[in-house]
Amino acid sequence: MRNSEIRNPKSAIQDRVVVLGGGPAGMGAAWRLARTGHRVLLLEKEDRVGGLCRTVEYNGFRFDLGGHRFISQDAPLVEAIRDLMGEELLLVKRRSAVRLMGKEFKYPLEPLDLLRKMNRGYLLACLRDCLTSGRQRPPEAEGNLEDWLLTKFGPTLYRLFFEEYTAKLWGVHPRGLSSDWATARIPLLGLWDTLLRILSLQKRPKKQFATQFLYPRKGIGQIFEYMEREVRSRGGEVLLGREVTKVLLEGTRVRAVVCQPGQELIEGEAFISTLPLPRLINSLEPPPPDEVLSSVRSLQFRGLWFLNLLIDRPTVGINTWTYVPEGRYLMTRIQEPRLRSPLNAPEGKTSLVLEIPCDCGDAVWTMEEVTLRDRCLKDLSGLGIEIGPYVLDSFSTMAPLAYPIYKLGYRASRGKALSFLEGISNLTVCGRPGLFQYLFMDQAIQSGLKAAERLMGGRDAQVSDRSKVENPPSLRQAQDKPFGRDRSLHCEPLHLVEERSVLG
Ligand SMILES: Cc1cc2nc3c(=O)[nH]c(=O)nc-3n(C[C@H](O)[C@H](O)[C@H](O)COP(=O)(O)OP(=O)(O)OC[C@H]3O[C@@H](n4cnc5c(N)ncnc54)[C@H](O)[C@@H]3O)c2cc1C
Repeated sequence: MRNSEIRNPKSAIQDRVVVLGGGPAGMGAAWRLARTGHRVLLLEKEDRVGGLCRTVEYNGFRFDLGGHRFISQDAPLVEAIRDLMGEELLLVKRRSAVRLMGKEFKYPLEPLDLLRKMNRGYLLACLRDCLTSGRQRPPEAEGNLEDWLLTKFGPTLYRLFFEEYTAKLWGVHPRGLSSDWATARIPLLGLWDTLLRILSLQKRPKKQFATQFLYPRKGIGQIFEYMEREVRSRGGEVLLGREVTKVLLEGTRVRAVVCQPGQELIEGEAFISTLPLPRLINSLEPPPPDEVLSSVRSLQFRGLWFLNLLIDRPTVGINTWTYVPEGRYLMTRIQEPRLRSPLNAPEGKTSLVLEIPCDCGDAVWTMEEVTLRDRCLKDLSGLGIEIGPYVLDSFSTMAPLAYPIYKLGYRASRGKALSFLEGISNLTVCGRPGLFQYLFMDQAIQSGLKAAERLMGGRDAQVSDRSKVENPPSLRQAQDKPFGRDRSLHCEPLHLVEERSVLG
């Protein structure tokens, strides 16, 4: 996407496009429209763009909402992000681990590491699982997550690594979750692959994990701040602190949206929504039929509380992130932001981010921050991370809609809501909360770019693309090329091999 692309657009939209939400999907859409000379106005309810990918600054430290990194199989998108960020983009080595039973295992699991550290009884049990279950493939069709994980890893590894972790992360036992969540990600090594590697019968795993990733010097949110800067410099408008509360329909078109504060009425020719799907449905006026309203009631999100600890030590460990599967600990992951960029903490200091899953209003969500902090410091100590005396300060950030929960049967509810929205001719839905689909940042940006391109191409404004939603694309599958250029010209030596693990 070079400057030569900026020209008078010859497209179906001659007037303003209004984008709802300034996360990666909304910013991707606005960026694409502004770069091609279209009029665009973006409405974001927070005081900065980036959505779940925003970075918060606090006393000289920088914290993402949980640790983010940029990886993508889409070479033109990687190149566009590199063009945008220039020298500000770092190439970072990943190092992650699992803390379990008082030990630290490398993650992704490595055969030799497992052999060295795992109790012999468990190793024999894994071998038995392998021999008794045979080499099965998890079912392709939607089933429950427990069956999928059992088939893939066998009962011993399932109980050890996945059962408690999954229940803690989602607030739902794996039996009540759809296997779509696992199949939509590149699965990590299964039990058989691990066994074959231990026996040296398979040298290279079939699926590779990214060993490095891209990360901006000033936090992941810098990518979206740069997009915002460019949108504004090209005449686009980005209104922050504007919460969309109503979407006003006239026949089968959106006429305008209303946002707070001030009941401001914003009109446009076309609308791109990245608002959470249930929120969009509930904002429509006149309201949709009861069956559509009731379908979105079952589409729920899991929240995350991020406890950010400022630490008076140059470093805590070597892992960019550590998974904590055991249910007795509150957190699911521990991140050390300095290991992504040295600018995430002042010289000589470091920080940790603890990711604590919860639901709005539950026992964790309503905990006093000081109680949660004491509990977390005890948990860290139980895990062998003794940082209590070095904690300078702490603060919290919250993401009430961090993860769309794929409960069994969610597909039908989502399908009903998206079908209804397809009948609104100038409304395009995209993004992770917008499609209620477990998208990563690069896929969210792509969905925004595609939404913009469909409008520019004058095709039907619908981008909910139900075929893709119902059969989430494999992340290795070639994505649409948002910049329409030959991928082979842009392949990087970097080999950003996709890794999306089932630990999350
Ligand atoms: C803990 C965690 C770690 C992650 N790590 C990674 C990672 O390492 N790599 C990766 O690729 N992905 C990662 N992701 C996923 C990534 O964050 C999402 O894919 C991405 O943020 C989705 O972008 P989006 O624009 O679709 O949605 P969001 O980021 O949720 O943005 C939606 C935007 O809409 C705004 N909005 C909502 N309602 C309204 C309203 N009524 N009016 C106006 N604005 C509104 C919100 O404020 C928000 O800015 C992670 C997610 C989490 C939770």
